[in-house]
Amino acid sequence: MAGIASLSSLWDRAACRAVDDPEIFFPVSSAGAGLSEIARAKAVCSRCSVREQCLEYAVETRQVHGVWGGASENERRAIAGRRRRDLAGREHELLHVS
Ligand code: SF4
Repeated sequence: MAGIASLSSLWDRAACRAVDDPEIFFPVSSAGAGLSEIARAKAVCSRCSVREQCLEYAVETRQVHGVWGGASENERRAIAGRRRRDLAGREHELLHVS
């Protein structure tokens, strides 16, 4: 995860800084008109040079709202869930192998 000190350098290169309507990154809902905003935000993220770091930061710091690193709230929850399950699986293996 990017350290807090380096966040400002990431932000300097963020593609979302140049959009006319930054509200698209925080749609009111994840359905209806919000779907169009999410798609537009993801399109911006797809050409952002710090997308991976942004996504990692959002998952690690459990950002609840908005599109970060090209991932919606639901997608980040799914990523975090997979990571927790993978970690639990590795811990289970370690406990039962040794
Ligand atoms: S990945 Fe998306 S939300 Fe993150 S800094 Fe880039 S444009 Fe902004």
